[in-house]
Amino acid sequence: MHFAFCILNYMALFPQTFIDDLKSHADIVTVIQDYVSLKKVGATYKGLCPFHGEKTPSFHVNRDKGFFHCFGCGVGGDVLKFLELHDKVGFQDAVKLLAQRFGMPLPELEQSDEQRANATERETLLKIHEAAAAWFREQLASPAGARVRTQIVERGVSQQTNDAMGLGFAPSSRDALKQALLKQGFSQALLLRAGLLVERDGGGVIDRFRNRLMIPISRDTGSVIAFGGRALDADQQPKYLNSPETPIYSKGRTLYGLNLAKGAMQQGGFAILVEGYFDFAQVYQAGYQSVVASCGTALTPQQAQQLRRFTSKVVLSFDPDVAGQGAAAKSCEMLVAEGFDVNVATLPAGEDPDVFVRRRGRAAYGERLKESRPYLEYLLDRVSTSHDLQTDEGRVHFVTAMLPIAARIPDAAMRDRFADRIAFKARVTDEVVRAEIRRAAVQKQSTVRNRANTGFGQVTKAEKGLIWWLIHEPAPALTALTGLEPPDFEGLASREVLDLARKLNEDRGFSPSVLLERLSMVEAQLVTAVASESEPPVHEVENCARIIRRLRYERERAALQREIDRLQQLGATEHGDQIDALWARKRDLLQRIEALI
Ligand SMILES: [Zn+2]
Repeated sequence: MHFAFCILNYMALFPQTFIDDLKSHADIVTVIQDYVSLKKVGATYKGLCPFHGEKTPSFHVNRDKGFFHCFGCGVGGDVLKFLELHDKVGFQDAVKLLAQRFGMPLPELEQSDEQRANATERETLLKIHEAAAAWFREQLASPAGARVRTQIVERGVSQQTNDAMGLGFAPSSRDALKQALLKQGFSQALLLRAGLLVERDGGGVIDRFRNRLMIPISRDTGSVIAFGGRALDADQQPKYLNSPETPIYSKGRTLYGLNLAKGAMQQGGFAILVEGYFDFAQVYQAGYQSVVASCGTALTPQQAQQLRRFTSKVVLSFDPDVAGQGAAAKSCEMLVAEGFDVNVATLPAGEDPDVFVRRRGRAAYGERLKESRPYLEYLLDRVSTSHDLQTDEGRVHFVTAMLPIAARIPDAAMRDRFADRIAFKARVTDEVVRAEIRRAAVQKQSTVRNRANTGFGQVTKAEKGLIWWLIHEPAPALTALTGLEPPDFEGLASREVLDLARKLNEDRGFSPSVLLERLSMVEAQLVTAVASESEPPVHEVENCARIIRRLRYERERAALQREIDRLQQLGATEHGDQIDALWARKRDLLQRIEALI
């Protein structure tokens, strides 16, 4: 059964009409009451939050609008999101569970012949991986695996952690795995496709992984989709050998350990990011189970999206000798640009989390996590110590080094604060540096991806108002929303939410239920927090749209002003015509702003 669920995750989707129908049958209070005892208080139901420990109820369920929200830990969403979070399943599985709960038969999934063939192949590839993982585990437990078991114990990995990770052993034999899996009825062609076999130049087909400690790599649902194989002998090359990309495995979209960490991540509200499998093993074993490993390469935006489903806070814990450069630094910058809260837990030089935890124990590691600092602060210190800030040249180099990083910060308020910090460090007058940074930021913004805007640092009252009305009285809210244009949403903290609402309205009809369903974890928190308020933050929805439009004009006016300032610094006489033109545009904007007040 579990297996079938995993397949559904990426096969075909249930038709939206079915989901709509299901949600209209599935009363959210009835569903949540299966897990939480709820009491009716006024228009809503209250209970103790199942997602964080509490003694006084801050968990609210709104039956009419079909959403829940916890004022304690911030989680929120529709009935499907509740099941996803509570049962730790994906969206499609949540739909299945809900349909079962209300006895609704599942519709036939619509698929083309090709999709069906691909789905069958992927299904077989998953079965092959399941069988291979079991076989590797058997080899580890066998007499032949004794030496590897000793190595695992010597690395300080407990039996419990070993079991959780599902470690195994690939013996030195040329084709022992191949023979075992052929015997189980899998074809050689599919074993090759799974990346478990390789074709030799001479034409022979042998096992890819030989004489290696085997680490299964899983989806967040738990199904094994690839392997990492670590060399067992000192002179064995390469040290790590990974599965190739296959129809079920893409390295850039998979985060090692997410299947084991996701529950702890949601509970603790943050993820710990380490580099290697053994770092993972030690941190996990030390009781910090919200840990995932990047496995040596810089994190991709797709991996960040995987993480975002469970948390938007990340603590990086790397060896400081390598943390400054390469993969770790790139990961940090990408996460910042994606709107994550990123902290760095520094360790003594030369110690990665694996070494640190074994040498100093779990409590010491916990201290390091507690003392972790925002990445941008950490970076300012690190970069400033490598420049001589006593000299003009050093200061210029320092500012130049920090600018591209500042430019990638998606949240305008955060960018501003960071500008302040750079200015302070470099002892340059604020306004000059800030103007520089803002300009760098404007130039760069087009390259920062769309998703970047989910920090929610500065959601304005007007945005909140529009969101509140979208849930409680969609009709006038949609009228107001359709009056706005894409540039109005630019740079807004709730841009993704408003954009989604607008698209839904254009595509196939908007409803609060569909909106809630499509939101990411973090966006759902924002929306349910706002919608839980009994009064709208702004009483007339048309005013929300008017304020949002005015804010856009004000942003444009500020940009014009900066350009005027810049040209004036370069020389007002040479640039007189340009400056006059800008002034004219600014006057026009001012008139428009006044018309909106
Ligand atoms: Zn809670």
